[in-house]
Amino acid sequence: MAESDGRTLGDEEVAAAERVIRSGMLNSVWGTEARALEREIAHVYGTRHAITCSSGTAALHLAVVAAAPDPGDEIITTPITDFGTVAPILAQNAVPIFADVDPSDGNLDPEAVAARIGPRTKAIMAVHLFGAPARIDELRALADEHGLALIEDCAQAWLTGLPGGRLAGTVGQVGCLSLQQWKHITCGDGGVAITDDDELARRMRLFSDKGWDRAAGRSHAAFGLNYRMTELQAAVARAQLVKLPGVVAARRRTAVRLLEALGDLPGIRLPRPGGHAWWLFPVVCPDGDAPERAAHLAAAGIPARAGYLAEPLNRAPVWDAAIYGAARYPLDGYEPNPCPRAEELVDRTLLVIDWNENYTPEHVELIAHEMSKFRARP
Ligand SMILES: *Cc1c(COP(=O)(O)O)cnc(C)c1O
Repeated sequence: MAESDGRTLGDEEVAAAERVIRSGMLNSVWGTEARALEREIAHVYGTRHAITCSSGTAALHLAVVAAAPDPGDEIITTPITDFGTVAPILAQNAVPIFADVDPSDGNLDPEAVAARIGPRTKAIMAVHLFGAPARIDELRALADEHGLALIEDCAQAWLTGLPGGRLAGTVGQVGCLSLQQWKHITCGDGGVAITDDDELARRMRLFSDKGWDRAAGRSHAAFGLNYRMTELQAAVARAQLVKLPGVVAARRRTAVRLLEALGDLPGIRLPRPGGHAWWLFPVVCPDGDAPERAAHLAAAGIPARAGYLAEPLNRAPVWDAAIYGAARYPLDGYEPNPCPRAEELVDRTLLVIDWNENYTPEHVELIAHEMSKFRARP
């Protein structure tokens, strides 16, 4: 399946990069591309603000900064995600609290989240895993009930649909997108935070530019880092954004074809297609044979893996390592709580098949064929 690498990079992106280089202005403080990308993404998502930055992790860091945890405050999130969801919590000296997931799709289980809310909880960070919509309305109700911020990690969920025609990323106070190489659209690395809240937007913009309020001269109004997107990244991302609806539509077309081809094949549970943006095609194998199934597919040349992660993030080696210096504050004595359903998924039952916009009906047929050829060992 060598021709199916995905990616839609072509003449438009080349022209965009050339336009920026010929302009002589590669920095977004003085250029026009990043600001234009922000307007265009805000338009697609129907939000008041979009703030570009250097990565999806940076966008999530901006969102955590906007939620303003005190050191030692807790942020509840999922153990099945990219480490970019968790790193910003540590960066702000807050404490990640892992809640268990729904065994059908690996997304946060609102009941498990509710059980983890305590006096130090400041925010909930939900991930729309693999592009499948998380139960975000329930999480929003929970957040509102307890006065918490809700952050949506949409790095894998460009144009993921929610009931009522809304887009994932517009329910929480802040939604975060990634433009990393393997996301739906890319400029190599890049991120965007979207919000309707003027004050949160101001805080995030300041943090992304060293706390520098550019309208106030060389004056630093807040603590911040340099998370600015470059004009080169922004121009390429603008060309990619034009292609986004086609990318997601193509992924949906072939994913639905695979769902139909697999039908009610025994031994697997298929993802629900509603709203799914199909970053990957996840399959749950209740008998615990995801590793064997992944090996079977891989041997047939189909890019597929078991578990998605080597271990769920609540069991990552990082918790036994030095995180800051010798002191661990505020993580003294910290031990992530077990998340048995997430652990079961990652260890035994979750199979992820790579997916992209260049898959053809022939690819789908091959995958369906190999999936049905697999025989569990007696
Ligand atoms: C990719 C990803 C991130 C991090 O984005 P980067 O652009 O790689 O920093 C965060 N969360 C999820 C769910 C991701 O898939």
